[in-house]
Amino acid sequence: MIVKKGEKVKGFFSPESRKVRKKLQLKSTNPFIQTFSFGLPDFPTFRLPLTFTSKSVNLPPTMAHQIPEDGTQLPLMEEFYTIQGEGFHTGKAAYFIRLGGCDVGCHWCDVKESWDAELHALTYADQIIENASKHPSKAVVVTGGEPLIYNLDYLTAGLQKRGIKTFIETSGAYPLSGHWDWICLSPKKFKSPMANVAANADELKVIVFNKSDFIFAEQNSKLVSPACKLYLQPEWSKSKEMTPLIVDYVMNNPQWEISLQTHKYLNIP
Ligand code: SF4
Repeated sequence: MIVKKGEKVKGFFSPESRKVRKKLQLKSTNPFIQTFSFGLPDFPTFRLPLTFTSKSVNLPPTMAHQIPEDGTQLPLMEEFYTIQGEGFHTGKAAYFIRLGGCDVGCHWCDVKESWDAELHALTYADQIIENASKHPSKAVVVTGGEPLIYNLDYLTAGLQKRGIKTFIETSGAYPLSGHWDWICLSPKKFKSPMANVAANADELKVIVFNKSDFIFAEQNSKLVSPACKLYLQPEWSKSKEMTPLIVDYVMNNPQWEISLQTHKYLNIP
């Protein structure tokens, strides 16, 4: 694709293009809307190795995943059987289904490779259900990326038909779809959670990256039901700094509990 100097482009950047962005010292850290004005007067256009999704502007139809609206196919990044490491279900075996695609843009995200849905193969939901049902634990965690970008009705109905409990980890940035036994809402400052996700959340898990996240946590606790469990979880790279603050906070505000990323301590996925 040719991007003209100063042109605004929306899209998901491939890892290669992030390197390009760094090389050109583009100021914005928003990976989805970028203005290219890299000051090369005799070089008015630049060929970028961008990968676009169906949300992108000027998208040639052949470049996009044709993700069916009925959710019978989904961009699957990975699926694996492990132990849920965080939140209410910590310590329980579960089959993880990670869907590609996210436009929330958390700078500390530890699964940035999930952002570009185009990089992840469209997979039949029936196949995912079949794979999940082969494991001893009858629980799945659907995560991402941001899984609610997609219609999850078909996937979750199929899982529940097989007697599998359905749990989701979502930022709440997209409307709720799917049939859920447990909804973990992990809201992000970069894109507010939708009211219908917050109202149905069983668990609110706020990632604490800096002190202002305690205020953010309290703001979000007002959006969820009184029965919703409340968790504060240190962001992994800041955990040494933030964990003592969370300990103090929970001791003074015992409606909150601490969630740790125990899978990272256990060195499991
Ligand atoms: Fe990463 Fe989740 Fe934030 Fe998306 S919402 S950028 S997947 S941490």
